[in-house]
Amino acid sequence: IKKIGVLTSGGDAPGMNAAIRSVVRTCAYHEIECVGIYRGYQGMIEGDFETMDARSVKGIINKGGTILKSARSKEFMTEAGRKKAYANLQKENIDAIVVIGGDGSFTGAMVFNQEFDIPVMGIPGTIDNDIYGTTHTLGYDTALNTVVEVIDKIRDTASSHDRLFFIEVMGRDVGHIALNVGVAGGAEEVLIPEENLGLDRLLESLHRSKASGKSSSIVVVAEGDKIGKNVFELKDYVDEHMSEYEVRVSVLGHMQRGGSPSCFDRVLASRMGVKAVESLLEGKSTFMVGLLNDIMDLTPLDQAIKGQSKINLELLRVSDIMTT
Ligand code: ATP
Repeated sequence: IKKIGVLTSGGDAPGMNAAIRSVVRTCAYHEIECVGIYRGYQGMIEGDFETMDARSVKGIINKGGTILKSARSKEFMTEAGRKKAYANLQKENIDAIVVIGGDGSFTGAMVFNQEFDIPVMGIPGTIDNDIYGTTHTLGYDTALNTVVEVIDKIRDTASSHDRLFFIEVMGRDVGHIALNVGVAGGAEEVLIPEENLGLDRLLESLHRSKASGKSSSIVVVAEGDKIGKNVFELKDYVDEHMSEYEVRVSVLGHMQRGGSPSCFDRVLASRMGVKAVESLLEGKSTFMVGLLNDIMDLTPLDQAIKGQSKINLELLRVSDIMTT
């Protein structure tokens, strides 16, 4: 392998820039060429490439988002689109690619590899942490810290006005962010897709909290929660059934995906970039690099995206005990 292409695809996440920097500099260290591919697979189809050296990635380790831009490409879902993409890689003599993204991006990488036998390596970049084969995806730790900071602020106003807040956080179909920020932010209840609390138990819990003398309550709701009502319907439901609280809703939204990556994410991104490039140089392909037991490990891409849950339900019990 003499030339590696790197791209970011799907939703952006803090730490993607730090990973790009690491891929580029690891290539430079091993004296092979590196090409940045803009706008994910779409840029590959359009030949939107830029040669990158160690200096091209200065000053980005602390920046959120991705300097290579990200995109969702419908065209790459078609055989004709992928053919164009491969032709562009050949023209540029790119003989392997590192894909920084989520499960959709990894699926695309696998399809591409099967069709053209080009070596691919995945780096998990998503705040949702919904990928198997790594305890942390890139951006997840930063998102946790961002959300906890906001919950602390909301609690200030909640307790000044004896209010109950439903705070909706991101996470797609998994409850990693909700569960962890719930414990860290001292939430009364945490609603996650992996365990349906039920409306009765929610009300019971809120009554208990009020009776125990608490003046404010925070309920963290994962966006993928299956309680059967969205946060606004939950507010209406609780308004109807409880007069003790004034209820408010806060949907945190895209601010959770932004900001400067945490120290943890910067270190993780640096390690992942090194491992991804060096694994390609060792002749490996169709793996994802991940953090397991504090070691950089490889998991086959198809296993990483199969969607096994790695949620730690013990945290729900910890959360319950903490709200005594
Ligand atoms: P996030 O988790 O942040 O949404 P993601 O990587 O899962 O990130 P997707 O939009 O699902 O984001 O996928 C990114 C891109 O990967 C798609 O726009 C498409 O170009 C490509 N892709 C996804 N699935 C396939 C597939 N089955 N075949 C070919 N390409 C695919």
